[in-house]
Amino acid sequence: MSNNNKIGWRFDNTYSKLPNSMLTKLPPTPVKAPELIVLNHSLSKMLGLDFTDVSDKNLASIFSGNLLPEGSDTIAQAYAGHQFGHFTLLGDGRAIIIGEHLSRNNKRFDIQFKGSGKTPYSRNGDGRAALGPMLREYIISEAMFGLGIPTTRSLAVVKTGEKVIRENALDGAVLTRVAESHIRVGTFQYTVIAEDKRDLKTLFDYTIDRHYPNIKDSKTPAIDLLKIVIEKQSKLIVDWMRVGFIHGVMNTDNMTISGETIDYGPCAFMDTYDPETVFSSIDENGRYAFFNQPGIAKWNLARFAECLVPLIAEDKNTGIKIATEIVNSFSEIYTKNWFEMMRNKLGLLGKETKDEKLIMDLLTWMHKNKADYTNTFCFLMNQNLEKNKIYDNQSFIAWEKQWQERLKTNNNSPEKSLKLMRLNNPLVIPRNHKVEEALESANSGDLNPAKNLLKILEKPYEGGKEVNKYQSPAPPSDKIYKTFCGT
Ligand code: AMP
Ligand code: MG
Repeated sequence: MSNNNKIGWRFDNTYSKLPNSMLTKLPPTPVKAPELIVLNHSLSKMLGLDFTDVSDKNLASIFSGNLLPEGSDTIAQAYAGHQFGHFTLLGDGRAIIIGEHLSRNNKRFDIQFKGSGKTPYSRNGDGRAALGPMLREYIISEAMFGLGIPTTRSLAVVKTGEKVIRENALDGAVLTRVAESHIRVGTFQYTVIAEDKRDLKTLFDYTIDRHYPNIKDSKTPAIDLLKIVIEKQSKLIVDWMRVGFIHGVMNTDNMTISGETIDYGPCAFMDTYDPETVFSSIDENGRYAFFNQPGIAKWNLARFAECLVPLIAEDKNTGIKIATEIVNSFSEIYTKNWFEMMRNKLGLLGKETKDEKLIMDLLTWMHKNKADYTNTFCFLMNQNLEKNKIYDNQSFIAWEKQWQERLKTNNNSPEKSLKLMRLNNPLVIPRNHKVEEALESANSGDLNPAKNLLKILEKPYEGGKEVNKYQSPAPPSDKIYKTFCGT
């Protein structure tokens, strides 16, 4: 491709060299009439890519997979996963990794097209994706990045010019996803049941080389890897809980070894505080409800630990014993990190015995009074621009008094606590009604609401004139907000 060097692609593909059992080499299926919908300029810059001299027509060809950059080596990855607790063989059923790009500082990123056609892992799917869900992933993943939460990112969305059949015929689209890697708990699960028993060790060595080279020479690399992934996932879930994010489909194939949030399907942000919040239409039992997320993360990590048992110790029982102890440490690590995060949200310095009660009392009050999760913290920071009567409430005022007292301890000052709170409490989140509004407009050809929303979400902790338009929860309606998988 002639523009290749000008754009700055630097492919250095390593995963495609792994055994054939772990992947399938195949190109994306070309699309009929690609049209660029959105391109992420700041991410391009971070990746060291420059698309300024590329015509919209060529951009559409590139990001639909019709025009592959030189140096790409296109693959679909095989993986397995526990979906809602049941083990299944999966794999990239509608995604193709075109290669690993090195940014200017030699950081490695998978460049993946999602919605790029059938693969041997498509099962009954059509390999395609619709515009709404791809734009939704773009908006929410970029919002997560803005919130400072580890996540895969979105580089572009193109319309394919083809229809995809869901409940209705919808505009087809391809999303370009950028990730530190796509290695999942499910990728390990796949190698464990592989015919060739060497695959597990191959993937293990590859993962350490790629993500955690500092433990390469360790005498106990499998133990180290398990501990690192537990630490990363516990931090990640705490971050989700901090901003009210509900992933919605925490299957083991949707948990990365890098610690990035991945697979934005039925995810959504909670507005009214309710620990049992579920948005996903298929999560009927609330397995992935807001407050179940840490428990499920631990369950998924146990599945990861099971894969590593043969690499932890030669004797199986010894391996299981060590792995179990490490997995059980998750609860303590998580709880410690969660309280720390909640103290930060409340601007508390140091650690006091009464903090736990103070925190739980606030959450209980919010739950009982159907308070908005994000806006309650905005209220405490005096950042809620609209007056809300909900806080003129006896028990809330009593709680606030105790909080004010606690704020005076440990050499704190109003400036210090406010600074800490402002770093930890977003003023804006991608509220469901705003996201839906943006997607509806995009579906009828107007991208401005999506672009405005993306702009606001770039700096969610900063105030500004436009912010208050995005702070209000959805107006009351009879409709319960529902999200969907695999669309
Ligand atoms: P997800 O719910 O996105 O984690 O997807 C679960 C599995 O279903 C993955 O293996 C996906 O690649 C696959 N999948 C989802 N949608 C489709 C589709 N339209 N065509 C083929 N495979 C799909
Ligand atoms: Mg998935």
